[in-house]
Amino acid sequence: MQAVKLVGPHTLELQDVPVPDVGPDEVLVRIAGAGLCHSDLHVLHMGEEWPFFGNTVGHEGAGWVERTGADVDGLARGDAVLISVIWACGRCRACVEGRDNACEVNGSRLQFPTTPGLGPDGAMAEYMVVKARQLDRIGDLDPVAAAPLADAGVTPMHAINSARARLTPGSTAVVIGVGGLGHLGLQILKATTAARIVAVDTDDAKLALARELGADVVLKSDADAARKILDLTNGYGADAVFDFVGVQPTVDLATAVVAPEGALRFVGLGGGSFTFASDPGTDVLPWGVNVQRSYGGTRADQLQVIALAQQGRLSVEVQRYPLAEYQRAFDDLEAGRITGRAVLIP
Ligand code: NAD
Ligand code: ZN
Ligand code: ZN
Repeated sequence: MQAVKLVGPHTLELQDVPVPDVGPDEVLVRIAGAGLCHSDLHVLHMGEEWPFFGNTVGHEGAGWVERTGADVDGLARGDAVLISVIWACGRCRACVEGRDNACEVNGSRLQFPTTPGLGPDGAMAEYMVVKARQLDRIGDLDPVAAAPLADAGVTPMHAINSARARLTPGSTAVVIGVGGLGHLGLQILKATTAARIVAVDTDDAKLALARELGADVVLKSDADAARKILDLTNGYGADAVFDFVGVQPTVDLATAVVAPEGALRFVGLGGGSFTFASDPGTDVLPWGVNVQRSYGGTRADQLQVIALAQQGRLSVEVQRYPLAEYQRAFDDLEAGRITGRAVLIP
C-alpha cells in the first residue's frame, strides 16, 4: 500500500509498504480521507530532534472497517469510523475523570499523549491499524469530509466547551484564524451558543468564508483589530477569545481584547508567547481571566462533534487531493491557499 512518510527534516516521501497486520484488539481501517493540519507543517519543519522520522504522517483520519482482530466486538466490516486523534489509555486517573486529552500514560508533565501521525503510523496511507477502542462510528457521514473532525473539529470543541460558562446570550466570542480549526470552531460557536461571533483573519478569502458560516462581524487581523473589538464591546472586551494561530501578533491581540473574567484559549502553535504579571497595577490582563493552553479534546468532545455533523450543523469545507499529490497539498497549506481543510484521498 502507499503511505506518506516523514523521512527527515523538511522531507516527505510516498512509499510502498506492506499492509499492516491487526492484533486481537485492533482494526484495519481502509482510509477514506486524511486531513492535513497546520501541525503537520510545524513537524515537517522540525530539525533532527523529531523522534518519529520514518513513520506515516496524518492525525486526522476516517474510513471503513476492513478487518477486525479476534477480540473486537461492536464493529463490523464496512462500518464508517472516525479515528481518535489522542490515543489515551482509558484507565489512568485523568482518563477516568474524562480528561483523556491529559492522559497520564506518557508519564511526563510536558509530553503530549500518544497521537497517530505524530508518533505511531498515521492516516496518510491506504490502510491504518487502530485499537478498536480509538474508533467512533460515524454512520452515514461521508468519511472524506468527516476526517478533519478528529482534530480540526474536536480541538475547537474542547476549547469552546471549557469556555461555555462565558458564552451566554449577550456575550462576545472572538475567533482568531479562520483556517482548518477556526472555520469549524466558528460553526460550533454558532450551533451551540448565542454569543456574538467576531472572526479575525489576515486573508480575505478566509474572512469571506467566515461571513458565509455566520460570523456576525469579520475583521482583518491588523494593528486596528484590538481597538475595533473593544469598540464593539464598549471597551469591556470579549468574553471568550480563541486564538487558532498563536503567532505573537495574535497572542497579543487575544490578550488585549479579553474581558474581565473572560476565557483566553490558546490553541495555535505559531511560536508566540504570553506573559503574566501578578502585581495589582498590571495592565497585561483584566482581573479574573482564565487562560488555557488547550490541547486536542476528549472522546466526549468527539461524540459531540460527530453529533453536530450528523445534524447538518457542522461541515468541513473540504479541498480534495489524491494521496499521491500530498506535496501539492502541503505546499498549498503552507502558502495559505487552503480555504477550509485539505484532505488527502488514497
Ligand atoms: P490553517 O493553516 O488551516 O489556518 C490558519 C489560519 O490562520 C489561516 O486562515 C490564516 O489565514 C490565519 N492566520 C495566519 N496568520 C494570522 C494572523 N496574524 N492573524 C489572524 N489570522 C491569521 O491552520 P490550522 O490547521 O487551523 O491550525 C491552526 C494552528 O493550531 C496551528 O498552529 C496548528 O499547529 C495548531 N493546532 C493546535 C492544536 C492543539 O491541540 N493545540 C491542534 C491542532 C492544530
Ligand atoms: Zn492537528
Ligand atoms: Zn490515560
